[in-house]
Amino acid sequence: MDDCLFCKIIRGEIPSAKVFENDDVFAFKDINPQAPVHVLIVPKKHVANALEGADAGIMDGLMRAAAQIAREQGLAENGFRLITNCGRDGAQSVNHLHFHLLGGKQLPERMA
Ligand code: AMP
Repeated sequence: MDDCLFCKIIRGEIPSAKVFENDDVFAFKDINPQAPVHVLIVPKKHVANALEGADAGIMDGLMRAAAQIAREQGLAENGFRLITNCGRDGAQSVNHLHFHLLGGKQLPERMA
């Protein structure tokens, strides 16, 4: 996708603070962090969101990457939150599937 923000980050056309990359997944620090650790985990293949085209292969790659990044970021002992926003009511602002990995502090119990 030529004008997708996260596709441009994956291609290196927009700088990012990369924390993980393999053949299928790219992960980088959120530019507006909401926790001491706030990493965005995205598939390299452009998929709009959790409703569109997120097949088992993509989800497996994202979840495996999330677990590895969580360990590398020191979140394994105390835990973390892994969420994806979808569509208007989900407050999705970038239309490229991504998971937010949040941790490094006690997160609020309520999510909405
Ligand atoms: P969402 O609202 O779930 O679509 O999440 C999009 C996230 O992308 C937000 O948390 C933004 O802070 C983050 N974001 C937007 N632009 C950038 C960027 N250039 N680099 C890193 N994170 C970004």
